[in-house]
Amino acid sequence: MYDVNSKHAEDFINHEEILATLAYADENKNNLPLIESLIEKAAKRKGLSHREASVLLACEDPDLNEKIFRLAEQIKKDFYGNRIVLFAPLYLSNYCINGCTYCPYHLKNKHIPRKKLSQEDIKREVIALQDMGHKRLALEAGEDPVHNTMDYYLDSINTIYNIKHKNGAIRRVNINIAATTVDNYRLLKEAGIGTYILFQETYHKESYLELHPTGPKHDYDYHTEAMDRAMEGGVDDVGIGVLFGLDKFRYEFAGLLMHAEHLEAAFGVGPHTISVPRLRNADDIDADAFTNGIDDDTFAKIVACIRIAVPYTGMIISTRESQQVRERVLHLGVSQISGGSRTSVGGYCEPEPEDEKSEQFDVIDNRTLDEVVQWLMKMDYLPSFCTACYREGRTGDRFMSLCKSGQIQNCCHPNALMTLEEYLMDYASPETKRIGDMLIDREVLNVPNEKARAVVLENLKLIRENNRR
Ligand code: SAM
Repeated sequence: MYDVNSKHAEDFINHEEILATLAYADENKNNLPLIESLIEKAAKRKGLSHREASVLLACEDPDLNEKIFRLAEQIKKDFYGNRIVLFAPLYLSNYCINGCTYCPYHLKNKHIPRKKLSQEDIKREVIALQDMGHKRLALEAGEDPVHNTMDYYLDSINTIYNIKHKNGAIRRVNINIAATTVDNYRLLKEAGIGTYILFQETYHKESYLELHPTGPKHDYDYHTEAMDRAMEGGVDDVGIGVLFGLDKFRYEFAGLLMHAEHLEAAFGVGPHTISVPRLRNADDIDADAFTNGIDDDTFAKIVACIRIAVPYTGMIISTRESQQVRERVLHLGVSQISGGSRTSVGGYCEPEPEDEKSEQFDVIDNRTLDEVVQWLMKMDYLPSFCTACYREGRTGDRFMSLCKSGQIQNCCHPNALMTLEEYLMDYASPETKRIGDMLIDREVLNVPNEKARAVVLENLKLIRENNRR
């Protein structure tokens, strides 16, 4: 029985409700008055339900689709301005006891080298990431209770936060690790994690059980209810996502939104971020063998419809996507991207030898962070290294209310400008610095409040004189 408030996975991600949603969307995909009215409702920027957003996703009318894209673009501008937050993944360990059929870390893969970073390795990798200019990391690991223990994660987080190197410090450590217990989530929160990220992979239970035939991840309910336990453990910033390509995208889209609705209903705070990864080739994985892949047009439509449905939720695109695809979807709703990423265990401070490749999937966008930053700025985006909200305790519902009230613009824009200037001074190539300084000089005029603008100008001057507060 569908119940958005229920604590049981199969109630809040209810199969019958998703099927009814898909049937409703299909019936109404050419119902122009209804679609017009949904676009009008969405323009109020209060979001849409999973049923409503599914109708927009199914819409076949080219003019209305154009309106959907324009609205997504406008909502993105209103809520996030032109800022794009940058981060990098750090793979800690690829030991894994699960049997996920799409992931090369699966237990039966006997030829992929298994690696786990020691605390010394982590220091070296993090210093290499800091030397690129990164301030935010997403820790990644397979699931292995012997090799990848909670103590190991806690030590790693502690190591990372305590590395001081030149002007750099990692200010926000997010973590993408297997579903765990309330007590462990509490420990992660106490260790100072930013967002706890866990992808559902697929919301379709039957497919989920087939795609995860063995190992602890096979337990659909335990996996699907992970964010509820995380919230109970005090982690109020959670990141959800599906791996597009595993099951039918319309099903996944409805499931994602139902998950967001559930978290908001049950805990008063929706997901902090939604990720939209697409399945990629990897060591012993042929993505073409999975028949539910989506093309770039569908991908763009999904991003636009998520933006409209949950305007206050950040959206993440990784280097699984090419420069071209990233360019296409950035303005439709994406607020965070990774740059200069490696998906191998180690590999930031020195490349892995050819015969020791431990990557999780093929990175499509292989550019350096400097190239990504320069590319963003040439398109008039403002790359942001800001982590102020997190450091000042504006997480969970406090962050959401800031975002929903539109106030995010007033504090984020100045912080983005100042952290970008720090990046330019410390890490950028001369050409990136030149482009960035021109952008900052233009953008500072857009700080609405006169007093705030004066403070930002003074801070920028100090940063440029290498005289930081
Ligand atoms: N062990 C954790 C778990 O159980 O969710 C997480 C980690 S894994 C390092 C991060 C994500 O990579 C997975 O959730 C999955 O969606 C994604 N992934 C796995 N195989 C992939 C592939 N072949 N292409 C693209 N993404 C993949």
